[in-house]
Amino acid sequence: NADIALYSAKDHGKNNFQFFSEETNQLVSRKSKLAMDLKKGLERGEFSLHYQPQIDLKTEKTVGLEALLRWTHPKWGNVSPAEFIPIAEETGSIIQIGEFVLRQACLQNMAWQKAGLPQFRVAVNISSRQFSQSNLTETVQAALSESGLAPQYLELELTESIIQDSPSAISTMGKLKAMGIHLSIDDFGTGYSSLRYLKLFPIDTLKIDQCFTRNLTTDPKDAALVDTIIQMAHNLQLNVIAEGVESAEQLQFLKQQGCNQAQGYYFNPPLPPEKIKEFYQPAAKSIQ
Ligand code: C2E
Ligand code: MG
Ligand code: MG
Ligand code: MG
Repeated sequence: NADIALYSAKDHGKNNFQFFSEETNQLVSRKSKLAMDLKKGLERGEFSLHYQPQIDLKTEKTVGLEALLRWTHPKWGNVSPAEFIPIAEETGSIIQIGEFVLRQACLQNMAWQKAGLPQFRVAVNISSRQFSQSNLTETVQAALSESGLAPQYLELELTESIIQDSPSAISTMGKLKAMGIHLSIDDFGTGYSSLRYLKLFPIDTLKIDQCFTRNLTTDPKDAALVDTIIQMAHNLQLNVIAEGVESAEQLQFLKQQGCNQAQGYYFNPPLPPEKIKEFYQPAAKSIQ
């Protein structure tokens, strides 16, 4: 983080400041290069989606797949969405990129259904800037119509920050719900929104952020928080899913507390579409 580097460099005198300042320049230039390459990258087909299974903890069946964007940059190779999504948000290219993700995820899910795979809901991450676009519902409707996917097989993952950026957020959510689309709050508990929104948001699911899941079995505070989120979600008739599940112990805890679903490396990492197909396609009928 450039700001932190600068701050600590100042504490250590002038020479270090020069050194860190050079490093900061490099960070800034990587950022501006990525910003310029984002749009071109979309046109050149450098973006693709991977899908991470979401498992129902009672039936142990896959019920959903979260679509996660991947960018293979011609010079830098794989660039993490944690790095490029904030840049795309700042520059506005998130609008085109987000549209690509929505269309691609719907087309892919429909293709799997046609191929006879079990029916999954595909979950698409929506950034706040994308959510505050006045034509979001039209964009979503177009992705459904074009693919032929029924709305109950699409879920949109929203973060708590949407409310700051979009005064009409609740009415947009209402429209999406009325279309039959599922809505979830991603990274729950890490944003700045108040519990009041849980009453006002017409949502179906809370996603427990992986920062709470991580130390679930070693930190009693995290255990208490996760337990509380699950009970609260259920009291509000909401579905709850834990992300970032990496161990059998975490899974055990979540099952005991009645968590509905989970996703994480313990089950599967995000997988390319071919792998999903291989994994779930019905066994080929033997020829007699
Ligand atoms: P997120 O939506 O909270 O996604 C969960 C992240 O956790 C993903 O990182 C996923 O690969 C990772 N993950 C899954 N299981 C585990 C696990 O067991 N342990 C750990 N440590 N991590 C796990 P990824 O793919 O790098 O995405 C990072 C973030 O970038 C996402 O967080 C989401 O906020 C954003 N993002 C990704 N794709 C899109 C997209 O298409 N549109 C938008 N707007 N944002 C996206
Ligand atoms: Mg997500
Ligand atoms: Mg999340
Ligand atoms: Mg997260």
